[in-house]
Amino acid sequence: MPRVHPAPRALLEERGRETVEAALELWPRAYQDRTALRRISELRVGDEATVLGTVAHVRVQRMRNGRPLLKVGVQEGGSALELVFFNPPPWRLKQFAAGESLLCSGKVTEGFGARRQMSQPEVEKVQAGDSANFGRIVPVYPGPADYQHPALRKLMKRLVDELAPAAVDDVPAEIRARRALAGRAEALRDAHFPPPGTDPLRAAERVTPAFRRLVFEELFFLQLALAMRRRGVRAEAGIAFDASPAALARAVEPLPFRLTGAQERALAEIARDMAEPEPMNRLLQGDVGSGKTAVAFAAMMLAVRSGWQAALMVPTEILAEQHARTLSRWLEGRGVEVALVGASARGKAQREARAAVAEGRARIAVGTHALLEQAVGFERLGLVVVDEQHRFGVMQRASLISKGRRPDVLVMTATPIPRTLALAFYGDLDQSKISELPPGRTPVTTRLFGDSQRKAAYALARGELEAGRQVYVVYPLVEESEKSDLADATTGATELAKVFPGHEIGLLHGRMKPEEKQRVMDRFRAGELQVLVATTVIEVGVDVPNASVMIVEHAERFGLSQLHQLRGRVGRGAAKSFCLLLAHFRRAGDEARERLRAMEETQDGFEIARVDLRIRGPGELLGTRQSGQKLLDVADLYRDEAILEEAREEAFGLVERDPDLARPEHAAAREALAGRWAGRLSLAQVG
Ligand code: ADP
Ligand code: MG
Repeated sequence: MPRVHPAPRALLEERGRETVEAALELWPRAYQDRTALRRISELRVGDEATVLGTVAHVRVQRMRNGRPLLKVGVQEGGSALELVFFNPPPWRLKQFAAGESLLCSGKVTEGFGARRQMSQPEVEKVQAGDSANFGRIVPVYPGPADYQHPALRKLMKRLVDELAPAAVDDVPAEIRARRALAGRAEALRDAHFPPPGTDPLRAAERVTPAFRRLVFEELFFLQLALAMRRRGVRAEAGIAFDASPAALARAVEPLPFRLTGAQERALAEIARDMAEPEPMNRLLQGDVGSGKTAVAFAAMMLAVRSGWQAALMVPTEILAEQHARTLSRWLEGRGVEVALVGASARGKAQREARAAVAEGRARIAVGTHALLEQAVGFERLGLVVVDEQHRFGVMQRASLISKGRRPDVLVMTATPIPRTLALAFYGDLDQSKISELPPGRTPVTTRLFGDSQRKAAYALARGELEAGRQVYVVYPLVEESEKSDLADATTGATELAKVFPGHEIGLLHGRMKPEEKQRVMDRFRAGELQVLVATTVIEVGVDVPNASVMIVEHAERFGLSQLHQLRGRVGRGAAKSFCLLLAHFRRAGDEARERLRAMEETQDGFEIARVDLRIRGPGELLGTRQSGQKLLDVADLYRDEAILEEAREEAFGLVERDPDLARPEHAAAREALAGRWAGRLSLAQVG
């Protein structure tokens, strides 16, 4: 672009906007409506206004410190306004000449003798043609005051007018027409300089037609990438398991309860995938306690009865042990062996478990990432189930999958992901959801206690203990200082012995050996211990139905989904249950308060996830904060749910119609796809 003033260009370059494209994507943070011109005679002190006048005089005075002070008198219809510029740069001193027409915008103040003034106003000489700064709704860019300089707006206006029309519109025309989307050039123009009649607030909220198009575009290409990936997985030959109604009936038969309707629906979806020769790649979401294990069990039984092995990978030893125990109990006397693959290969039991898996005597292997060790081999791995999937990285999952030949994959998560986030980032996985809890659960009452109200919380817990129930007390674990946390929990346990006399108290923390942890957990499960004091190791998946109270110490230090997980440990039996959050309000920030309040207000994991999304944004929810990459630019998953659904439908439809995007009318989309997501897409490959 010729004749660009170096100052606004430098502003852009300093912030990494070195290309026209990048500059065009510097989105305004707000807008000012300067459509209407005011008469000078009508101006009142305090008004923000834009007026058109004629320069009457120009005066330079000296301030007390010797710096120049520029005063420009402007007249219109017999009324006068004085523009005041403090310490102006040299070019400003020469900017004005009597007789010129001038647009001025700023706040009206009062000078000597009730004279109306504007100090440091924005001004522009009136020329023929469009002004970037007046007579329209103008953008306010993020950044310091120099970012609001008229010269930057002028440059943006030129980019938008002269170069944006040359941008290729990479959303296929057919889709644009069907969704009534603006063209890219038009959208860029209106995003920076909204057309007359636009509500500046709506523009700032990015809900105008221009932003609808830009948001659609961003989400469309994300979905297109996911649709292409999904197709890639599907194109490979996998295993067709026997998932006939008879096989299904046989798979659920060992369960000691009837599946809920929601569990049955999820299982039917899984079974349908498993019956197909294409590899399954499915995400099963279900709130804490919704009974994902039973569904996974039935899926594993389908694999086992078809002559394959199944692997269940979980994030903690305690959980592995619990799952192995549950599955073995359900399978008692049915000739299906479950092997627990532990962390260390040493010891006779472990050698045997591993051999059983390798030789195929064990048909189901349960373990932590120990399952990933090279030494762990399978005879015929056909189904991989990953529980609490957010705890595992992409590579870990891939490495388990590689132990079979294109096994089916089921990933499960109890960290409810809002639907938008799931669609946006796990959109290449098919999704099932368990949306109801098993019968007989009573809702958990959640209450917040300040530090001084600790006694009341304890009294409530004591009552439950006396009624024969059990209690968890959880302390936060701060990784950098495991020692002090241990101290916290240990002191806590000692204190609690005084608070709950006559009850056995057990302590569980991260530095205990697996066998020790196991022993404590066993005793708690058996009811020999009534109170379990723990660092967050019990966060995930532990199932002790008789426990009815969860006390969380320093609740302000926990994330929302963690708190929800912890709460999910109680309310598993028929008894009324309580989640008591002890918080140091004074030290808690606004976000922490908002989290705690959300916990009190709702039990619905998906609602909690929505709040979490609003508070923290998608990057942090997906654990990508460290990467420093911004996942989305204009789109906001909280706000743009409806657009996401449309974009997804169109993207998946497009891949269906033209799987390689080979048609000429899709060439632009194909190219855009490669360009946009290079490097960023790996984040979405978690599935
Ligand atoms: P999560 O989805 O959190 O992993 P679990 O699989 O641990 O949940 O199940 C929670 C509890 O609910 C377990 O005690 C389990 O036995 C029980 N459960 C699961 N499904 C049913 C059902 N259909 N009817 C009754 N109880 C069930
Ligand atoms: Mg579970």
